Amino acid sequence: MPATQFICPDGQRISMLQCLTACPIQIRCMFLPTLRAIAKSVNRPIAEPTVTELIAGVRETYLKKTTSYAVSPQRVLYALQGQAVHTLHERCTQGEILSEIRLKDQITSGQFDLYGKILDTQEGVLGDLKVTSSYKLMKALGIYKQKITTGEVYKTGLKKGQLKYRTILCKDGVRHVWDWAVQLNYYRMLLEEAGFPVERMYIQALCRDSGLRIAAERGIDQSLYIIPIYKISNQWIERYFRKKAALLQQARETHRLPPICSSRERWQDRKCLDYCDGREFCPYSQKLQQFRKVG
Ligand code: SF4
Ligand code: SF4
Repeated sequence: MPATQFICPDGQRISMLQCLTACPIQIRCMFLPTLRAIAKSVNRPIAEPTVTELIAGVRETYLKKTTSYAVSPQRVLYALQGQAVHTLHERCTQGEILSEIRLKDQITSGQFDLYGKILDTQEGVLGDLKVTSSYKLMKALGIYKQKITTGEVYKTGLKKGQLKYRTILCKDGVRHVWDWAVQLNYYRMLLEEAGFPVERMYIQALCRDSGLRIAAERGIDQSLYIIPIYKISNQWIERYFRKKAALLQQARETHRLPPICSSRERWQDRKCLDYCDGREFCPYSQKLQQFRKVG
């Protein structure tokens, strides 16, 4: 079941159809075409679970597919930015680069962004476009903050005699690109099955908040980064997706809620509290919300 309701800025819910037909408030919270584009973007007519849906928690995908949920237009606007970037690129492939083609196998389907000579003279390069935050980019580039001593000590006050520290940015950390790597590797498999060999894979990530102080503090000083993605074995990728697709299928057949999403899928609970579209119908999220109220 798709998203069927909007959450208005005052917290009221309204069916998307009703909102798009006539807003009960005198002036809409955003332009009508923007609302139409949001309604379209959250309701894509794809029956099978997609690659991105299978990368998310099975419970989340199950709830999004079986319940009629509500979205706040303000909160899903970022998805439009991503779609706009995709559309602009699609128009500039000049017939020599493949783009935005949905490929399918027995497990899932996925739409790759760009394939061809996209970076240099080599053919068969698979590219994916992301519009993301400086936080996610910092993680993806392996940047982390570390406190080091300045060699000085406090001369007065409560900390008198204690060492002074300052924070530096290190760039040799683990690159947190797991979800991007799994997604691109599945697209690679789909392309290769269709007879298009993939030589290299890259993410082109546009930073949503570049230029802001918070981005600079995270070591993000460019608006765009090219991030290489390495090959994961076909066997591992296939096993992972097959298992998740089977869990989802089982839940849909038995109408039983799948197990709680993993800590990574839950973003260590941040997603359950504020971002998951299925949270209204998820007992785990409800429990967390209660703790938050008590706390
Ligand atoms: S335009 Fe905005 S305020 Fe009006 S009904 Fe739609 S979501 Fe609610
Ligand atoms: S609220 Fe959390 S546990 Fe529940 S479906 Fe969403 S991500 Fe998964």
